[in-house]
Amino acid sequence: MADHLADVLLQRPLSTVWFRFPHLQAQAPSLLPLRIRDIRSWGKALLIEFDDGRTLYSHNQLYGRWFIRKAGTRPATNRDLRVALETPTHAALLYSASEIELLDPGAWRVHPFLGRLGPDVFAPGTTPAFLRRRLRSPRFRKRTLGGLLMDQQFLAGLGNYLRSEILFAARLHPDRRAGDLDDDALALLARQIRALARRAYLTAGETAPKAWVRARQAAGLPRRACRHLVFERDEEPCPACGTEIRRMDCSGRRLYFCPRCQPTGTDTGETP
Ligand SMILES: [Zn+2]
Repeated sequence: MADHLADVLLQRPLSTVWFRFPHLQAQAPSLLPLRIRDIRSWGKALLIEFDDGRTLYSHNQLYGRWFIRKAGTRPATNRDLRVALETPTHAALLYSASEIELLDPGAWRVHPFLGRLGPDVFAPGTTPAFLRRRLRSPRFRKRTLGGLLMDQQFLAGLGNYLRSEILFAARLHPDRRAGDLDDDALALLARQIRALARRAYLTAGETAPKAWVRARQAAGLPRRACRHLVFERDEEPCPACGTEIRRMDCSGRRLYFCPRCQPTGTDTGETP
């Protein structure tokens, strides 16, 4: 969504800035002469940065939704409009969201949500080397990987299906801990976090290799059965070894893994 909004808003003159909430609407005129210089997601938060350094923060929770329409038009919806940002050609419209704030420059550091949020998986600084250091840090090294990968304070932006797919690709059981991994296993995990998040981003949610996805699509399987190697594939054979994939609960969410490829032991997690 950040990409779609950037396509129509970035560096364009704003003709309308409107907020549903009065305390924000009072500041709307001060934004009108400005342009938007950056739009990015941070975990599930969206940050729209104006060129005076102020940032419009929004979090959609489970109900907020952005629409992009031609300027002056509105979607047919019963939702409640909360933010309208318009250029002479386009309207970016946020409906239903309740968490919307205009932050002064740097205010995210003391923000109750953003201030505790880990770096986004796509942030420029989130390199494999950075991830290796973070996984080994005293704060996170003793945590189980299954819990850690869902913890937005460790890393923001990893959804539940990515957790299963990353651990399978790294051949690590979710109960293992970063502090117990050798250098090779840690490096593989750090690489797979970035690689699978990037692949999912570029393909709108596929984590399996392209050839595997296409072969299953050609066989007539439904889309949800084609996208992932282990996620939502419990009782089906592991694509690497044929062992039946299992499902478990981990940090309150479902997790899928291969008991053979992802052993619980203290070895490096290599495929047997
Ligand atoms: Zn397997």
